[in-house]
Amino acid sequence: MASSCDAIVIGAGPAGLATAAALEARGLKAAILEKSGAVGAVWRRHYDRLHLHTDRARSALPGLEIPKACGRYPSRAHVVEYLEAYAETFALKPAFDAPVHAVRRDGRAWRAEAGENSRTAPIVVVATGSAGYPHVPAWPGMDEFGGPILHSSVYRNPAPFTGKRVLVIGCGNSGAEIALDLAEAGVDVTLAVRGAVNVIPRELFGVPILAWGLAGRLFPARIADIINAPLLRFAIGPIEKLGLKRSPKGPLQAIEEDGRVPVIDIGTLDAIRDGRITLRGEVTSFARDSAVFRRSPPERFGAVILATGFRPDLRALLPDAKGVLSATGAPLVSGKATAEPGLFFCGAIPSAIGQFRQIGVEAVSIAEAARPLRAA
Ligand SMILES: Cc1cc2nc3c(=O)[nH]c(=O)nc-3n(C[C@H](O)[C@H](O)[C@H](O)COP(=O)(O)OP(=O)(O)OC[C@H]3O[C@@H](n4cnc5c(N)ncnc54)[C@H](O)[C@@H]3O)c2cc1C
Repeated sequence: MASSCDAIVIGAGPAGLATAAALEARGLKAAILEKSGAVGAVWRRHYDRLHLHTDRARSALPGLEIPKACGRYPSRAHVVEYLEAYAETFALKPAFDAPVHAVRRDGRAWRAEAGENSRTAPIVVVATGSAGYPHVPAWPGMDEFGGPILHSSVYRNPAPFTGKRVLVIGCGNSGAEIALDLAEAGVDVTLAVRGAVNVIPRELFGVPILAWGLAGRLFPARIADIINAPLLRFAIGPIEKLGLKRSPKGPLQAIEEDGRVPVIDIGTLDAIRDGRITLRGEVTSFARDSAVFRRSPPERFGAVILATGFRPDLRALLPDAKGVLSATGAPLVSGKATAEPGLFFCGAIPSAIGQFRQIGVEAVSIAEAARPLRAA
């Protein structure tokens, strides 16, 4: 039988931990259900070289600084240690190996179905992230391609690609960094970029880019982009000369209107400039040993990495919820009340202030909104 509590939090990543801590701080008993065996499961399996692209000072969750010893841009391992410390500091004890299969209405409460870990509560916070929903486009001929085709979420390091010609498809933060990782290891790498991009530096005049982004929030996104444009152009240079197309919308407007996060450049542009990364345009199909491009001749590759992003679809998880998901199953709002009383999402929508920071803001506002809903 499902045991009860004030709130159920699904997921023990940054969003689940921050929300549970915020709820507990307001006297609500939160049960965290995590499908894997540890907190920060997704950060444990990100690629080896990953460091936060946002700076330590602006990436901490509420109530606990990231230690100075982690440096300005903490490594993946530092982030895992930090999340472990966060759970310990706030005495959060998730139920592990507890995948939630569905969240259903149970009278005025919600029931999270997770076998023997099932729980019922008036409040449920979905903090399941996007890692479980890799987007893998279907190209003609993909099945015939002889080499491996893998999603960026399973890429770890360049070792398996030594001696191969590798095609990385997609120029978001993962694609740009994985291409750089391969190039730095001496792998022959091509980056296929279909559309226009926003590229920003990690720092501007020694100040982390997030600090500039936060200052820009004094203005509407479009105006802040206009103000920042000359500085960004100065810092990044004319990306059109490298063969990239600049997005017609600035970085802040693109996040706000389309949820498109800019690429934070940590060396990819230099690698394109000096020829260690080759740029190509849109891929239209595959053959046995090659990729076919829309505007250039087919080329042979030994492996393909799809840095094509994630498309969370929560329809199966939330079969009873009405008016909270888009037609494709993405949450419509995050960090505040939804159309379903007691149901919240945390960290579900990209933000201009950095996702860790946004998660912290949302965790607190969810806890405030949830407080009056606690079990009588
Ligand atoms: C490569 C990469 C680099 C990033 N770098 C930065 C950065 O530098 N700065 C920044 O601010 N943001 C960054 N982000 C974005 C974001 O901050 C992280 O993705 C962050 O981990 C999101 O936290 P989350 O808790 O929402 O999701 P996750 O970290 O994905 O955690 C979700 C948790 O929910 C669990 N779960 C999922 N489904 C279920 C279920 N049905 N039942 C039970 N448990 C479930 C998962 O196992 C997981 O533990 C990065 C993202 C990626 C992919």
